[in-house]
Amino acid sequence: MGLKAKGLSEGYRSPTYYELAAPEELDWRPHRPESYREYRREWDRRGAEGQAGDFPLHLDIDPTNRCNLRCRMCPRTHYLETGQKHWAPLGLVDLDISLYQKIIASSEGTGLRSVKLNFLGEPLLHPRLPEMVAMAAQAGLWVMINTNAVALTPDLSRKLLAAGLTDIFFSFDSPYRQEYEAIRVGADYGKVLANIASFMEAKEEMGLNRVQTRASMVLSEGSDGLEGIKSDYIKLFRDLKVAEIGFGLPTVMGRDYSALPSPEDFVCPDLFRRLFVFNDGLCGPCCGDWERRLIVGDAGRQSISEIWNGEAYQKLRRAHLSGRHRDIPACRDCSVPYLSTVSA
Ligand code: SF4
Repeated sequence: MGLKAKGLSEGYRSPTYYELAAPEELDWRPHRPESYREYRREWDRRGAEGQAGDFPLHLDIDPTNRCNLRCRMCPRTHYLETGQKHWAPLGLVDLDISLYQKIIASSEGTGLRSVKLNFLGEPLLHPRLPEMVAMAAQAGLWVMINTNAVALTPDLSRKLLAAGLTDIFFSFDSPYRQEYEAIRVGADYGKVLANIASFMEAKEEMGLNRVQTRASMVLSEGSDGLEGIKSDYIKLFRDLKVAEIGFGLPTVMGRDYSALPSPEDFVCPDLFRRLFVFNDGLCGPCCGDWERRLIVGDAGRQSISEIWNGEAYQKLRRAHLSGRHRDIPACRDCSVPYLSTVSA
């Protein structure tokens, strides 16, 4: 390995996503140590240079594939409504805490720097989430979650912060009640905003200025009045003192991405820095493979190191680095190469 991942550059995060930086008074970065900045440089370097190192820099571990909403744009909703089962072969189950404990314990001293606790489900539904956050924080990792914040009670906010949560990303898809509730089916606009507000208050009271907060909204390509929507969204979350505001382009379920143009030399940067551990222990390379066509190992039976350095994952990296991402059906059908050509 070692070829330059074409089209990617220093500072690259994701082709499908951009965010507004935090204003100075809300900026959490100055409150983090130099080791955090080194970690982020390594994140960019691995993606840009196509260098995987000996161990993932980051693990995405899914505490559960259960969810309390049926969001319109979510692949999980699509699979439930169409009766598909490949995304959840064991049904709706929570991650076994002893498997989680084994993964975290065996990752100490390996170069792992962060975990994000979620994939297809809502992490707050795992009854032992604060304990999971504490285990990772005690192992010296940056600990992140994405959440819809529906179950983020004031008590749970305090427990997660006390356990060592360092980054929380609120998924909130419109500044307007009617539109939000039509997209995030099952959520109550006012209650979710109140939950986010109480998290922000707890963070302030606990003096945790190094904790990153972000609200993210999925955009529709080509929507009318987008600039006005964005500015209302920014105002809503700036008033709550959420540090960062992100906008992402969606993957449209059912769309044939293989028929859309994408760079022939596309190299997926995530292959070199992260590994996804699903709620049943099977592992995949990315958040684009909901259908589990790219399983590269089983954390219940193999170590993370074996999976990261194993032939299945190496083969995938070799295909991308030699300009053959389209030879892999899951990557050919994936939205990410196409979305790298359009901007959010
Ligand atoms: S399916 Fe392939 S191209 Fe898409 S995110 Fe995963 S590795 Fe990258």
